[in-house]
Amino acid sequence: MMGQKTGDETQLFYAFNLDEYVPENHLLRRIDRFLDLSKLRQHLADYYSHTGRPSVDPELMIRMLIVGYCFAIRSERRLCDEVHLNLGYRWFCRLGLEGEVPDHSTFSKNRHGRFRESDVLRFVFDEVVRSCMREGLVKGEGFAVDASVMPANANWREGVAPDEVDWTDPKHNTRAVREYLAALDAGELPEVSPKKVSLTDPMSRWTAATGPAFYAYSTNYLADMACGVIVDVEATHAHRISEVESTKVMIDRVEEQFGLKPERLIGDTVYGAAPMLSWLVDEKGIEPHIPVWDKSERHDGTFSRSDFQWDEAADEYRCPGGKLLRSRQRHRGYKPGTVTRANTIIYRASELDCKPCPLKQQCCPNVTFRKIVRSVHEAARDVARQIAKTPEYQHSYYQRRKVEMLFAHLKCVLKVDRLRLRGLSGAKDEFILAATAQNLRKMANLIGQPPPAHRIGTPA
Ligand code: SF4
Repeated sequence: MMGQKTGDETQLFYAFNLDEYVPENHLLRRIDRFLDLSKLRQHLADYYSHTGRPSVDPELMIRMLIVGYCFAIRSERRLCDEVHLNLGYRWFCRLGLEGEVPDHSTFSKNRHGRFRESDVLRFVFDEVVRSCMREGLVKGEGFAVDASVMPANANWREGVAPDEVDWTDPKHNTRAVREYLAALDAGELPEVSPKKVSLTDPMSRWTAATGPAFYAYSTNYLADMACGVIVDVEATHAHRISEVESTKVMIDRVEEQFGLKPERLIGDTVYGAAPMLSWLVDEKGIEPHIPVWDKSERHDGTFSRSDFQWDEAADEYRCPGGKLLRSRQRHRGYKPGTVTRANTIIYRASELDCKPCPLKQQCCPNVTFRKIVRSVHEAARDVARQIAKTPEYQHSYYQRRKVEMLFAHLKCVLKVDRLRLRGLSGAKDEFILAATAQNLRKMANLIGQPPPAHRIGTPA
């Protein structure tokens, strides 16, 4: 028999409990267990006046933003509509059935105004990391660092050479341009000037790091290797030096904020430059599980630097022919022991030794004597080379995938594959929110599952 719905659609009163309506295993209910915003008002107190009309509740704004980044709704207009219509979102935002959802323009104004000034998104991210630590998901033994390039909200077809644009033209008076000019005055931009700049988002960097060039920023993650929790995130220009430098900022900040200092840091070759390794080994006492950035190997059949024996105590190399290469060697106006602008010291063999040497064709066939260039941070590089031979390094090598997976999750699941906000501050806001959502989802999936009896479709 064909069924027919008999309910009275015009019923006047309903017995409805929004809390009972949201299933126990709903992602937002599982996230809600770990989201503690009790200190939010205290953090924001200085940024709100004690008189005048009450603003939009900041906790509501934060909860809406978390909904948006957890469910890939990044348009503010759409987010306001979705929260208005979806009962699960209403429950998470503590709106009840009749609570008023802010207008998208009010939402946007608050987000780009007080929220940015107060750094509230960073505050929420830190609270979520503390929550992960309380739940035992962060061990602090090993961290991995990596960066991912994110296309900016700028048209790749439109751009001019940096010295061809008149930024005083009123048509360029936008928030992103003002931010760019302020950074330019403060000398905060990378030293290497880009080929062209975007007129809509000049802080974004023209990069060809992943194929055809486009405007981009970089998101940098520092992740704990126990469960892959992101313990810090930093937005930078899409520039390798900025990415590497952000590692120092993140490691220092995590130590200051959470008292965590890793025993080992995992990274790819980009982080294996000598100054970075020296900072890790000599200043921080952290083991670099990082491949050394080394261009000293020769592939033309002549001796590489590794064929020469280094004597630390005597500060000299011994060549395969048994002769010494010293930095103190005087030769044609070279100042002995000088550190070059590239932070290297040059070790030279004696012309008298090389000239009659039977190995000369294998060593320095085109010059009269052999030189070895050694970084002043070579000791730290040697530490990294020794670590690279251990089984622990192999383990770290496989663990590095955890941080790469976080970027895959960011782009494929959270759909953060292109920025919506402009300027470095916009990129910073988006990256912090996305990392917060990733940590909350991770907690919800690892320890937030309800007992089987409460799952939908499971018999009690
Ligand atoms: S050429 Fe000079 S540096 Fe090279 S093996 Fe001979 S003596 Fe040593």
